[in-house]
Amino acid sequence: MTFRILRALSVSILLLSSLAADTRMAPSTNPIPLTVVFHQSVLNFSTKEAQAVLDRGNQILSHGTHVTLSLKGEVGTFALGNGVANCNNLTELFKIPADVIVVREIDCCGKATPGPFAGCSGPGLPMIVLPAHQNDVQLRAVQWMHEFGHRKGLCHRTCPDGALMVPAPSIGNINIDPCESNILEGVTPNPACNACDIQTCDIPQQGGRISIADFVRQEFVEGIPYVPDIEYTAADIQYLDTLLNRPAEQAHWANAVVVLGMTGDRKAFELLKNFLERDIGPISPDADSAKLAVPIALGYLLAKTGNKEVFDYLRTGLDPTAWSDKVHWRASKGQRDDARDAHLTRLTILGLGLSGRREALRSLQSLLHQLSVRDAFPRKFKEGTGKYLREAIQINQHVRDVGLAQYYRDSETALFAARR
Ligand SMILES: [Zn+2]
Repeated sequence: MTFRILRALSVSILLLSSLAADTRMAPSTNPIPLTVVFHQSVLNFSTKEAQAVLDRGNQILSHGTHVTLSLKGEVGTFALGNGVANCNNLTELFKIPADVIVVREIDCCGKATPGPFAGCSGPGLPMIVLPAHQNDVQLRAVQWMHEFGHRKGLCHRTCPDGALMVPAPSIGNINIDPCESNILEGVTPNPACNACDIQTCDIPQQGGRISIADFVRQEFVEGIPYVPDIEYTAADIQYLDTLLNRPAEQAHWANAVVVLGMTGDRKAFELLKNFLERDIGPISPDADSAKLAVPIALGYLLAKTGNKEVFDYLRTGLDPTAWSDKVHWRASKGQRDDARDAHLTRLTILGLGLSGRREALRSLQSLLHQLSVRDAFPRKFKEGTGKYLREAIQINQHVRDVGLAQYYRDSETALFAARR
C-alpha cells in the first residue's frame, strides 16, 4: 500500500511561512502565560516538567510563528474525578479554571475517534493533556502544542506533511503553515484563511511514500486515523501477520490490528480472530490494547466487505458470556473474566456501530430491546451497556448515511461546534 507524503510540500510551506512573516506587521512578542494544574493522582509531575514541555513547545512554535508561551506561577493540583478524562466528566474538566489540565489518561474527546487520546481541546477551552516525564518531553511538547492549536481555533489539516495539526501528530510533526500562524498569533488572518476549514491538499501528490511498516510504527497521538482507501499489497498483509507474531513488536500491535481492519482484505478476518483469541493468562498492556482494538477493526472490515462471517462473529460477541468460550487471557493477574468480557462486548457494540451495516443496526436494536425485557443480564452490565448501544445505533445510522471517512470528519466538526 502507499501513503503518499508531500515531502516537497513541507519545504514550500516553510518557505511560504517565512515570506508571510516578513510581509505582515510584526505581532506582539509578549509570551502568553498559561496556568497548569495536574490531577492529584498524576505521579512525578511538577513545575519542572511543565516548564520543560513549554520550553520545547516554544521551539516548535518558532517554526513559523512569533508566539511564545510561558508558565504562569507554579503548577497546581486538582481533585475532580480520578485522573482519567472520560465522556462523563469531560465537560466538568473543561470548567476547571486553568489553561492546561494534566490527567493520567484521556479516554474521550467528544465524539471523535475511539480513544485513548493524548490530548483534547477546542476553541477557547483549556488543554487536557498527559504529563511529561524525562524521556518523552519532545512527544508531549508536540501534543501540548497541537492542543494549543485547537484552543486557538485551529482544526486538523489533512495533509500528512509533518504538520503539527495532522489528526495524529507524532514527534516529527512541527510544521505550522502561514494561515495557522496568523490564527495562533491572533493577527487578522488572510481572508483565504478560515480557522476551522479543514484544509485539503490540492497540490498533485508526488514525492516519497510511506510503507505500511513505517505507518504502523508511528505513535498516533489521538488514535490511528481512519484511512478510507488504504492501498496495500499481499506482502503488506503478510508483513502485518508477521508483526503480530513478534513479541518484540507489541508496541505496534494495536496499529497493525486497526490497519488490517481498514484494508478489508479477505485474510484479515482470520488473522484478527486468531490474534484476539490466542494467549492464556496475564498479557502485557500493549497486547491488551491491541486485542481490544480487534472489535473496532472488525467493524471497519465489515463496513468495507459486508462479510457475513465477520458480522456473525461480532453479533455473537454481543453476548458477553460468549467471549469466555473464545478468550482465556487476562489484562492483569487480578482481572475478572466477566470484566474482560463486558469490555469486549462494549467494543463489539462500537464495532457494529462503526460498520454502518443495516444487519448490524438490527442486532444493536434487538439487544437494546432485550436489555429492557430480559432479566438474564447482570444489572451492572445492563446499566453500562444501554448507553453504549444508543450511541452505537446513532453512529451506525450516521456511517450508513455518509460513510466512515465522512463520519470521522463530521465527528470532529461536531466536537468543535459543541465547544464554541
Ligand atoms: Zn487534534
